Amino acid sequence: MPPTTIIGAEITDLRFPTSEEAHGSDAVHVDPDYSAAYVVLHTDAGLEGHGLTFTIGRGNEIVCQAIRSLLPLVEGRTLESIRADRRAFWRALAQDSQFRWLGPEKGVMALALAAIVNAVWDLEARAAGKPLWRLLADMPAEELVGAIDFHGIRDAVDEAACLAMVKANDATRAERIARVEREGFPAYTTSCGWIGYPDDTVRARCRDGVRDGFTHFKMKIGQSIEDDVRRARIIREEIGPDRVLMVDANQRFDVRQAIEWIKPLAPFGIWWFEEPVSPDDVLGHAEIARAIQPIKVATGEQCQNRVMFKQFLASGGMQICQLDSCRVGGVNDNLAIMALARRFGVPVCPHAGGVGLCEFVAHLIMVDYIRFNPTIAGRVCEFVDHLHEHFVDPCVVKGGRYLAPTRPGFSGEVKRASLEAFAFPNGPEWVKRRKNGAER
Ligand SMILES: [Mg+2]
Repeated sequence: MPPTTIIGAEITDLRFPTSEEAHGSDAVHVDPDYSAAYVVLHTDAGLEGHGLTFTIGRGNEIVCQAIRSLLPLVEGRTLESIRADRRAFWRALAQDSQFRWLGPEKGVMALALAAIVNAVWDLEARAAGKPLWRLLADMPAEELVGAIDFHGIRDAVDEAACLAMVKANDATRAERIARVEREGFPAYTTSCGWIGYPDDTVRARCRDGVRDGFTHFKMKIGQSIEDDVRRARIIREEIGPDRVLMVDANQRFDVRQAIEWIKPLAPFGIWWFEEPVSPDDVLGHAEIARAIQPIKVATGEQCQNRVMFKQFLASGGMQICQLDSCRVGGVNDNLAIMALARRFGVPVCPHAGGVGLCEFVAHLIMVDYIRFNPTIAGRVCEFVDHLHEHFVDPCVVKGGRYLAPTRPGFSGEVKRASLEAFAFPNGPEWVKRRKNGAER
């Protein structure tokens, strides 16, 4: 077969006006317009790779530009050469000798890297005719580990340790593949708990969640303790004593403030306290974890890369590992993070919710369970029921569980009509809003 060469790309600044109804609102991000810096890689074989990274509005154009700037490192490469050495390909982008000054491996450049890397994995899975999770589930251990860059984490997990970890799981791998195909993976809902929702909406969303089979619910906190206590009471009333409640402050507090804030909420039965402080505050997370036990500290959605995950996991400040499909450098970096979580015995409960994140984590959580962390007990994967209608292969959550994706690829492809309608700033949905006087 002739090689498949990446010959060009198409980038779209895609934004949805979710702030109009407070969807996605929390104590810090009060008016998010859920957005994606979206990339389609074109090949000479006609095959396309669709990838994206998630943002919440202003600044999405900067991520699009970063993707555009990185593209010359991808164009002209063949799929076969990437597949032959996935680690080298990933490092060529993540550690380019000039671009690395802008990070390295953090911020806008990491977001842009994630969009491209996710698109390349989509391309590879489509070429193989498999959903990405299945491609990675079936991959020989050496090849899977060969996609991971261990630079900066070898003192915690090196190639040999990772290979031993993955191989030890191989004996029971087929059972787990069969299990996720049969039962999926447990999900939790955040759709009930956005901070901008009025009480009756919170109540209605809780009832929806219970009816839909969810056992775990998360609420946003951090603007007013009186409001938080009232909303926690409403949610507890609706979900009953046996379902599980988590809270998320989205980095709102300082360390001492976080420890105080959680006290009046603790009687409502809280499993985890998510992002209590700055996502860079390793010591602060660890101190909070010691102070508020048995409530766990969860973080990771804005943790920059595998090297930072190592700090959080080793320090005890990350007791629930919330890896994000688009914040770090895409699939490769997330494989490293799964290995680190296994090394430190911390449950992986991925972050999702924004545009495309649920579609991606539906694959990643299966890979983690099948290859790295072979237990379902005590684990749930975030689900938010927004914007899935724009995807060609939307995630399916039934009975409170993510079903294993079945179509070839990584499920990040957005419908052409949605790409055109919500392209910023000149798509018709945005032109219409500006005519009506909306400012963005
Ligand atoms: Mg969160």
